[in-house]
Amino acid sequence: MVIDTHCHIHDSEFYPENREDVYRQSRDAGVVMLCIGTTVRSSREAVAFAETHEGCYAAVGIHPHDGKDEDVAGIRQLLEEGHKKIVAIGEIGLDYFYEHSPRDVQRQLLHDQLALAQEFNLPVSFHVRDAYDDFWPIFDSFSGIRGIMHSFTDTQHNLEQGLKRGLLVGINGISTFTKEESQQRLYTEVPLEKIVLETDAPFLTPKPFRGKMNLPAYVGLVARHQAALKGVRVEDVEQATTDNAERVFGKMT
Ligand SMILES: [Zn+2]
Repeated sequence: MVIDTHCHIHDSEFYPENREDVYRQSRDAGVVMLCIGTTVRSSREAVAFAETHEGCYAAVGIHPHDGKDEDVAGIRQLLEEGHKKIVAIGEIGLDYFYEHSPRDVQRQLLHDQLALAQEFNLPVSFHVRDAYDDFWPIFDSFSGIRGIMHSFTDTQHNLEQGLKRGLLVGINGISTFTKEESQQRLYTEVPLEKIVLETDAPFLTPKPFRGKMNLPAYVGLVARHQAALKGVRVEDVEQATTDNAERVFGKMT
């Protein structure tokens, strides 16, 4: 049993036809999935998918890319409906690398959704790219926020900043193909008790399936790569990351 803490398998935009096949294949591989929303529409799809598929849970939130076209009221509405399978807010954060939405819009949206995380006492899946300097002050203006730094590829400094605040590190297929030495060192050195596994499917397909669409089923490849890097058994990586994920999101397996 292994938990993919970040996938988009529910999203009709990314898996128009073969969603059920992808789901079946991933369940057959023993994967529990956290389906992450990126818009109000996709958050609602995540909830509907989780409610009709065993072994799936949902996170609701607006991705920083989509900030300019979205309204947090739609996320609040979903939370107020009281769906039991909603276990997190996400993915939310700041993305100054692509900057698809203006920075001030992104910051306001992050702030408003952290307020929801606090109000509904839910952990958060964070997407932060080239923006940690602006991220920490907003994060620190709240108390008791817990969660994951999804797809973390930032500096050692920001890794330490996150760990110090109790955040965990989401490791995905990038770890299997990055050639950057500083990245490899980070993936090797970050301790097992601070990581969770994810795929970000359909994106970031791990080796040896580069060029194909990613599936939650491939999260095992990320686990295997972590085991090799850290010199431990795959079973130990799977057990530790499952325990870590369940400490943040609650019982999922
Ligand atoms: Zn994602």
